[in-house]
Amino acid sequence: MQERSTAKRCPKCRITFENPAAGFHKNAAQRDGWSPYCKTCKRATNKPPTPEQVEAGQARSRERMRRLRAEQPESVKAAKARYYSRHNDRLKARQRAYHAAHPEVGVAYIRNIKVADPEKLRVYWRRKRARKLNVSGAHTAEDVYRIYAEQQGRCFWCKEEVGSIYHVDHHMPLSRGGTDDATNLVIACPSCNLRRGNHLPGEWAPEPKTPAR
Ligand SMILES: [Zn+2]
Ligand SMILES: [Zn+2]
Repeated sequence: MQERSTAKRCPKCRITFENPAAGFHKNAAQRDGWSPYCKTCKRATNKPPTPEQVEAGQARSRERMRRLRAEQPESVKAAKARYYSRHNDRLKARQRAYHAAHPEVGVAYIRNIKVADPEKLRVYWRRKRARKLNVSGAHTAEDVYRIYAEQQGRCFWCKEEVGSIYHVDHHMPLSRGGTDDATNLVIACPSCNLRRGNHLPGEWAPEPKTPAR
């Protein structure tokens, strides 16, 4: 049995710790089991880690996280969710500060989405508007593509083909109590959508189309 409970004095600062564990790091290489100098003195003489040591430490923790994610994906997910909910305000503020300092990042992000999946961006704007109007419901770009296919690319109101220039229309207008759910969406030609405005479906009829000449 090692005599770990006897008081120990630091030869440098000359402070005596009745309980060595409170003042000294463990060190198995030492005869008494404790580091020669107290934690405070040890810290003062510690050299900062070399870039290689920092890199090695980071690689170790990356590897640890990778293994944890592979072995316990659910608990990692739960821990992440706990972290985000606990630090929500701080993280949001940091994100706002970052985007204020780097406006080009958001611009590039939006430019990329515009090219890759323009409907995704429109989903974002519709949700923003719905939230502003305090309207419930949500839909995805995939919902819009599905509805487009179900209507066979034709305007819900006038049945004209809309091609790539179409509006996503709330069947029951948001301002009249409609939700932003996929079940309340129809594909409309811009002319029908704009002329209907916020009229209820029954209060309005599409203009009869003049036959093409
Ligand atoms: Zn000391
Ligand atoms: Zn139409």
